Amino acid sequence: MSDLIQLVYISRAAFQTVPRNNLIVPEVSKILRVSRRNNRAKQIVGALYFGNGFFFQCLEGSEPALMALYETLKTDPRHRDLRILSKRAITERSFGNWEMKYLPPEQDVTRLMQSFGMSSFDPYQFNESKTAKMLDMLASGSNLQLDEAAPAQPSPKLVTKAGVSGIRVVIAVLLVLLLAALLAQRFLS
Ligand code: FAD
Repeated sequence: MSDLIQLVYISRAAFQTVPRNNLIVPEVSKILRVSRRNNRAKQIVGALYFGNGFFFQCLEGSEPALMALYETLKTDPRHRDLRILSKRAITERSFGNWEMKYLPPEQDVTRLMQSFGMSSFDPYQFNESKTAKMLDMLASGSNLQLDEAAPAQPSPKLVTKAGVSGIRVVIAVLLVLLLAALLAQRFLS
């Protein structure tokens, strides 16, 4: 495919995040679901990393599809200060069939930042070589499944269901005990 392009951009999240080890924050989880659905239809692949309040995203596909998506991304209020780190023609995709691979914040990134002499993830400090190393890490790292991100709290529906079945068990046990007591009283008298 002659017009295959790789676009790498960074941005700052416009929402507050509470660090939760290895779990996808709900806002990012929503972004991933929509991205995977839309990108599949547009034959776009890529990877997303979210850490320290920054997004680092690599997108690969046809130039018209990518530039149209980038225009949409620029208007998304969930992030700001978008900056393109690299845009180049490629001959093959680095992310195979990944509509949007997602890398959890983990040790590898911390180690990579340390090797850059940085104390935390800040892609606005990246130059060409740091961008390339981060991309290598995204391509080789393992994807975090959306369903691996356990919700922080069970939903109210689940709590209600669990509560109802718990009450049923207690009532059943009480009925059995009452029946046993009645039978014992009858035989003993
Ligand atoms: P819709 O189906 O209309 O929206 C889908 C859902 O997304 C909505 O129900 C809502 O819950 C949520 N949503 C949409 N917009 C907002 C908003 N402004 N604020 C809060 N919630 C919202 N899109 C892609 O298609 N491919 C990508 O690779 C991609 N990467 C992204 C990376 C980042 C860092 C961010 C912030 C967004 C990304 N998006 C991506 C989303 C993109 O900006 C658009 O929101 C999306 O493409 C719109 O698609 P749609 O019309 O199908 O959305």
